Amino acid sequence: MKRIVLLGSTGSIGTQTLDIVRANPGEFEIIGLCAHSNTQLFQQQVREFRPKYVVQTGVSENPGLALASLASVGEADIVVNALAGSSGLLPTLAACKAGKVLAQANKESLVMAGQLIMEMAQKTGAQILPIDSEPSAIWQMLRHNEPQSGIEKIILTASGGPFWKWKREELMQVSAEQALKHPTWKMGEKVSIDSATLMNKAFEIIETRWLFDVPPEKIDVTVHRQSTVHALVQFCDGNFSAVLSAPDMKIPIAHALFYPQRKPNNFARVDFLQLQWTFEKPDYSLFEGPRLAYEVLAAGGIMPAVFCLADEMAVSQFLQGQISFLEIYDVIKRALDNVKNTECSLEALEEISKQWTL
Ligand code: NDP
Ligand code: MG
Repeated sequence: MKRIVLLGSTGSIGTQTLDIVRANPGEFEIIGLCAHSNTQLFQQQVREFRPKYVVQTGVSENPGLALASLASVGEADIVVNALAGSSGLLPTLAACKAGKVLAQANKESLVMAGQLIMEMAQKTGAQILPIDSEPSAIWQMLRHNEPQSGIEKIILTASGGPFWKWKREELMQVSAEQALKHPTWKMGEKVSIDSATLMNKAFEIIETRWLFDVPPEKIDVTVHRQSTVHALVQFCDGNFSAVLSAPDMKIPIAHALFYPQRKPNNFARVDFLQLQWTFEKPDYSLFEGPRLAYEVLAAGGIMPAVFCLADEMAVSQFLQGQISFLEIYDVIKRALDNVKNTECSLEALEEISKQWTL
């Protein structure tokens, strides 16, 4: 039995993780649960799974400390980080410091502090198993000790979101409801808006850079509307690998939970007879996120964290009707222009988080 601590249990990834636990009796024990504001669902989950450790950050006096303690409890065999946004940073660092196996959906922590996290994991032997579908695909392609020198390119696929090929005039009128309607995935609010702006892909470029220690110039993006191919690896001898699956997050979640085993399931399968794949060159003229991702990676220091926090604030302002959809990028670019870069340390991250807290 694997003992699981699940952070973000009331969210999209969190509830799907619990579905997998429920469907596999005898395989997992939930020993810790954490949610933020959805008290009703959280209470139901606590009644059902009876975890030893429970944290509700929305009513906690020191949520950062509570999350960090839960992420490092001794008995946990695996910590699933399915928290939204920057709230995932402190528990990611804590789990790595404690040498845990961390099944990581939260990409924002890797964007904000990828280098610190990976250095910490290397020091303690912590293992990070990606849940995000693109890094999960890359992990499956690279884990047979492929030497770095053999990798020519890693190509992330992007669905393009609900507004792919829309014109500026059309985007000016976009409502939150339209932006939340993703064509292929059903996800939490923030990641849905990030997919519509392509900021999600920007974050995955940074996530990939750190998880697999590949230089940014070896990471590329292609728009693949069907979300069936999740990533491709192009090797230096001309061979290509790809990982395909139906667009169902339960597949990468289960993959991380059962690792190193592969457990049979009845999730949707890719139907080869129905396949019509397209791969298109992305156009960053309106959605500049991926281009900015390479810039903040080159700048280093706290710039990736500023990029992430400014997006979090802009998405929240958009969802509350305070700014328009296209103004999300104005907020991000203004932040990048106005912040003075410094070395990325815990103290610097704390300082910058205070300035950009919602
Ligand atoms: P959701 O918004 O659906 O869920 C987020 C979870 O985090 C909820 O349990 C929520 O609690 C909790 N939470 C929200 N704010 C805070 C806070 N300030 N402090 C502590 N906990 C908080 O998000 P998703 O499940 O969609 O995404 C989670 C992570 O996984 C994100 O980083 C996302 O990018 C990544 N991801 C998601 C995918 C998906 O398909 N959903 C795909 C790939 C990656 P409550 O509901 O109780 O308020
Ligand atoms: Mg993804």
